[in-house]
Amino acid sequence: MTQDLAAFAREKGVKYLMISYTDLFGGQRAKLVPAQAIGEMAVEGAGFAGFATWLDMTPAHPDMLAVPDPTTVIQLPWKPEVAWVAANCVMEGEDVAQAPRNVLRRLVDTALAKNLRVKTGVEAEFFLLTPEGTQISDPFDTATKPCYDQQAVMRRYDVISEICDYMLDLGWGPYQNDHEDANGQFEMNWDFADALVTADRHSFFKFMVKSVAEKHGFRATFMPKPIEGLTGNGCHAHISVWSPDGASNVFADDGKELGLSEQGRSFLGGIMRHATALAAITNPTVNSYKRINAPRTVSGATWAPNTVTWTGNNRTHMVRVPGPGRFELRLPDGAANPYLLQAVIIAAGLSGIAAKADPGPRYDIDMYAEGHTVKDAPRLPLNLLDAVRAFEADTGLTAAMGAEFSASYVKMKLQEWTDYVSHFSQWERDNTLDI
Ligand code: ADP
Ligand code: MG
Ligand code: MG
Ligand code: MG
Ligand code: MG
Repeated sequence: MTQDLAAFAREKGVKYLMISYTDLFGGQRAKLVPAQAIGEMAVEGAGFAGFATWLDMTPAHPDMLAVPDPTTVIQLPWKPEVAWVAANCVMEGEDVAQAPRNVLRRLVDTALAKNLRVKTGVEAEFFLLTPEGTQISDPFDTATKPCYDQQAVMRRYDVISEICDYMLDLGWGPYQNDHEDANGQFEMNWDFADALVTADRHSFFKFMVKSVAEKHGFRATFMPKPIEGLTGNGCHAHISVWSPDGASNVFADDGKELGLSEQGRSFLGGIMRHATALAAITNPTVNSYKRINAPRTVSGATWAPNTVTWTGNNRTHMVRVPGPGRFELRLPDGAANPYLLQAVIIAAGLSGIAAKADPGPRYDIDMYAEGHTVKDAPRLPLNLLDAVRAFEADTGLTAAMGAEFSASYVKMKLQEWTDYVSHFSQWERDNTLDI
């Protein structure tokens, strides 16, 4: 692990350090600091006006400092004279309570204090579009069922292999890449790791995919539903919990249903119990609700849930248990903030363990075809406003995420909603003009 950023820069020939933090809306904000000037900033942090980003601050707030975590430093594989480093937001000597990486760090520590080491993997799907972002970049990618399309993935081989090569060099353990279920959509998978490591990698992955795509003349997007009628960008999260030394998976128990231990089942129970509220974090944009609750896509299935149900190895539910000792949450989408996504999973899961929460009945049915037969499962929120209100009402979850964070998040998201509904649309004109 690198500890000294100045030495790292000297050793690698890095000219600029990009000190980066993630705001409440998932935006990555950075300062480019010349390596010669990094000395004090490596300890004190780089200064930002918090109000200028989505952090629920006023212009009168004192300087916010982004203090780099040197263990996260990555030399940009596509621009080796620059190195990216994730930073923690600090103000007047205190962690900024609502800053996403701080929220996650606190929850990781809370879990560790209970001897629970949360490990996760994410599947951050994306589209490659034309630069203006209105259509897919490959005019020949038109199959009705384009998933795993061999010819189409090879037409984007230069982009995909470049990103995968970088992940190999970074030691992330990438193991497969494919064309996904929508025209123009791809997925690249790398190994799961500690929740904070996965969150940092997830952030960097988004930055890397967008940067490499731009280099090749495309625009990459993780937007939940960038093209109407096509499958959206999911960001499934796979979760297991380990002993503090990482030696044993405490979610695994061969003697139990689907190989999920009692603790694993309770953690899952927490996710199920808080699902409609945590959607405000896992599905954080207006557009998110065009992916979940969506009508059938051109390919035949949305691959996204609309109901709070769980099952075994079956992809039509909100939670799938693909094998013993872990489960997959299929709810999150590409707009999810990498840090808050992990944080809310831990918050809901720990509350489930504390309450010995039962995940409820397991349905081994095709939810797309037979979902209407399930009468007692909650429906996921139909829009961002319902989700934010459900989050606000779930006081157990808001407390676990942190009171200051939750208040800020709800406030900023309600402002975003107000902004959205006050926007005039063609739909209104089309449906109201002649009334
Ligand atoms: P699928 O498409 O079948 O859902 P993928 O192979 O695309 O699965 O992604 C699986 C993700 O789950 C990867 O990031 C992988 O490393 C991760 N994963 C595998 N096992 C575990 C585990 N025990 N705990 C957490 N994550 C896991
Ligand atoms: Mg200035
Ligand atoms: Mg996958
Ligand atoms: Mg996928
Ligand atoms: Mg998946």
